[in-house]
Amino acid sequence: MSEKLSFVNPTADSPWGTYLSQVDRVVPYLGPLARWVETLKRPKRALIVDVPIEMDDGTIAHFEGYRVQHNMSRGPGKGGVRFHPDVTLEEVMALSAWMTIKTAAVNLPYGGAKGGIRVDPKKLSLQELEKVTRRYTSEIGIIIGPHTDIPAPDVNTNAQIMAWMMDTYSMNVGGTATGVVTGKPLHLGGSLGRVKATGRGVFVTGREAARRLGMDLRGARIAVQGFGNVGSVAAELFAEAGAKIVAVQDHTGTIVNSNGLDLAKLVPISRTDGVVGFKAGGDIVPNEDFWNTPCDILIPAALEGQLTAERAQKTTAKLVLEGANGPTVPIADDILAERGVLVVPDVICNAGGVTVSYFEWVQDFSSFFWDEDEINVRLDRIMMNALNHIWDTSDKHKITLRTATYAVACERILMARQERGLYP
Ligand code: NAD
Repeated sequence: MSEKLSFVNPTADSPWGTYLSQVDRVVPYLGPLARWVETLKRPKRALIVDVPIEMDDGTIAHFEGYRVQHNMSRGPGKGGVRFHPDVTLEEVMALSAWMTIKTAAVNLPYGGAKGGIRVDPKKLSLQELEKVTRRYTSEIGIIIGPHTDIPAPDVNTNAQIMAWMMDTYSMNVGGTATGVVTGKPLHLGGSLGRVKATGRGVFVTGREAARRLGMDLRGARIAVQGFGNVGSVAAELFAEAGAKIVAVQDHTGTIVNSNGLDLAKLVPISRTDGVVGFKAGGDIVPNEDFWNTPCDILIPAALEGQLTAERAQKTTAKLVLEGANGPTVPIADDILAERGVLVVPDVICNAGGVTVSYFEWVQDFSSFFWDEDEINVRLDRIMMNALNHIWDTSDKHKITLRTATYAVACERILMARQERGLYP
């Protein structure tokens, strides 16, 4: 008998509600390990912190910050930190749980965690951003550490923010603890290949899925939602492989070009003006039209909950590559399956970032750094092995790739839970 959590009120389509229904779907495939499944339906630990800073104009502002450690049965917590005005405890809980599944799906020796601050960083000066980052790091410093929980970048956080986090933690413990965060600048213990790793993983898993579907990437039409670290890198790699990027959407709007957008021009412009800054290269259309742009592959790489039932009905894609975390709501998942659209789920598709984060952490401990070719070869091997294993599981049980990924991951997590036993 377990009590419901009192501090969240999930709905069917909310991030935590989506995650819970994904776990429910895997229970029939867990055998005797199913008795431990409640472990996955609640976070191990959730910390809410106040982040007060003095603003440039002398006023004091307070922001709400979170660090959630969902599960640590297989190793230290691992997961990014998001700075966004819509961040909530429930969202961070779901993101931390997806990290637990993801690290287990690719068989990295980690559990899952996630953090965030409810703040619009675009409204802060650089100095204010540094203060928010440092105070937040200091507040969550009681639960993070190189052997306990290792943050990384996520939406609106980057290598500079990781450098401030590493420095703040190091100042508080005395010494230089490079292994406390990943996604750091190269000369501070960062890893080659980390910036492009998530987009690269989306490409590697997408290329393999397309091959298995008999889809030729040369000339394939691709629509990408979210043109940041994940979406733009994946788009560039697919374009290099001969695909046409026919639609791109970011927070500024949507641009389409059925002949393929010129990424060499779009990428730099999007960094300063958003994708709508590239008016010369395509047509700016209403945002909802993004979802019915004729395409073969759809890459949601922005935020969760974007692929709704209505949009799942509209899309002409045969393959969906989930660059973002939790972009597809459960009912849309069912619609896509019924329509014969293959979904490579987030928990494997975007696992390239955490895989190279793992390489970074290993390199920090050994103080020996690998070259980029070695990183990419190892990344490709881990992603391909994980995808092939999941594909076999999906074929064996005749289940979607998402449920197969959860089956593989949950078995690893709950087996570790069972072998460790319950304390006390
Ligand atoms: P980012 O901040 O670099 O880019 C986010 C992109 O999404 C931007 O182009 C932004 O304009 C766009 N966007 C934001 N709100 C939007 C909206 N309402 N409609 C359309 N576009 C919108 O972030 P990122 O690192 O590329 O992360 C994107 C997604 O990938 C997130 O779900 C994140 O959790 C996930 N992810 C990131 C990594 C990583 O290594 N960065 C790893 C795994 C998963």
